[in-house]
Amino acid sequence: MASLNGRAALVTGGSRGIGAAIALRLAQEGADVALTYVRDEQGAHEVVRKIESAGRRGVALRADAADPAAVTAVVGRAADELGRLDILVNNAGIGVLGPIETLTLADIDQVLAVNVRAVFLASRAAAGRMERGGRIIPIGSCMAQRVPGPGGTLYTTSKAALTGLTKALARELGSRGITVNLVHPGPIDTDMNPADGPYAASQSGLTALGRFGTADEVASVVAFLAGDEAAYMTGSEVVVDGGHAA
Ligand code: NDP
Repeated sequence: MASLNGRAALVTGGSRGIGAAIALRLAQEGADVALTYVRDEQGAHEVVRKIESAGRRGVALRADAADPAAVTAVVGRAADELGRLDILVNNAGIGVLGPIETLTLADIDQVLAVNVRAVFLASRAAAGRMERGGRIIPIGSCMAQRVPGPGGTLYTTSKAALTGLTKALARELGSRGITVNLVHPGPIDTDMNPADGPYAASQSGLTALGRFGTADEVASVVAFLAGDEAAYMTGSEVVVDGGHAA
């Protein structure tokens, strides 16, 4: 289809899981792709190798989303390396679950830094480099739409914050022709949430489709939002959750 020919994308947390699938899918659609990682250097380079096999340019950049200076700097680096920046997918995220009494200040700071502050900073830096047609796509969570049980207060707080960011930023960037759309995945089989993990069966049971999703099933929706066919969508929340919120 090659709907993203000539575009350049940055995917945060692209070394594994949903981010890796998004990075590869954007490349298969024609985009050059930079991706960030913090620990999994080997995984990041493997994704770059696949991007290059798809005939596109791939760049792996180490940047800890908890480090505000690194987040801002890596957006500039990605734009410089690829020569432009059209698409930012704010995918890097962490989950710390547990009763509110057990969460430490360090837990709260870390989750908000990675899941919220980094999205804010990267979006700000990317908007400064984007032209008309730019796309900012944060990755939220089904937990921001429906909280099925206790223990998710911190994670849900962080992901629900992205709704405000998405709507407000869509208003701010609309006049420049840049769109901002939030994607909420349901239970997706990754290292963070393996489909054979201890809570997998109950999560599957909460979806209408009765199963986990795959990272590719999220990536295809992100690729659609990144393309021209989604030009009139902005400020929206797109749910890719197998009916978890239905
Ligand atoms: P994984 O844990 O499988 O992968 C996380 C990715 O984010 C890795 O590439 C990791 O890089 C990167 N990352 C983690 N912390 C940092 C950091 N501090 N700085 C930079 N990169 C970082 O997660 P998923 O693929 O499952 O999740 C991706 C996104 O989707 C997250 O935002 C998550 O909250 C969201 N989500 C996931 C769901 C699921 O069921 N899997 C459901 C709903 C939402 P590295 O390996 O190099 O450390």
